[in-house]
Amino acid sequence: MNGKPVIAGRKMEHNMKDLGWENDWTPPNIIGQPRIDNTPQIVRDCKAAGHIATATNIGRCLTRCTCEQCGITYRVDSSD
Ligand SMILES: [Zn+2]
Repeated sequence: MNGKPVIAGRKMEHNMKDLGWENDWTPPNIIGQPRIDNTPQIVRDCKAAGHIATATNIGRCLTRCTCEQCGITYRVDSSD
């Protein structure tokens, strides 16, 4: 068989769509102003479908969430 060897896992990561930071989509609510929610549609669909995103700790209060079914990855900053 010819062709480039496929490195398991690495290739998958390469094809993942990086959506950035979840915190950027949903800024904290400000009382008296409309709630802002810019969550990408693909993430809404993912959550609505009940997919279980894989959460990986990537640092202090930092989590990377990956849904292999949707091919998406995003990061969450859970610090205050
Ligand atoms: Zn999904």
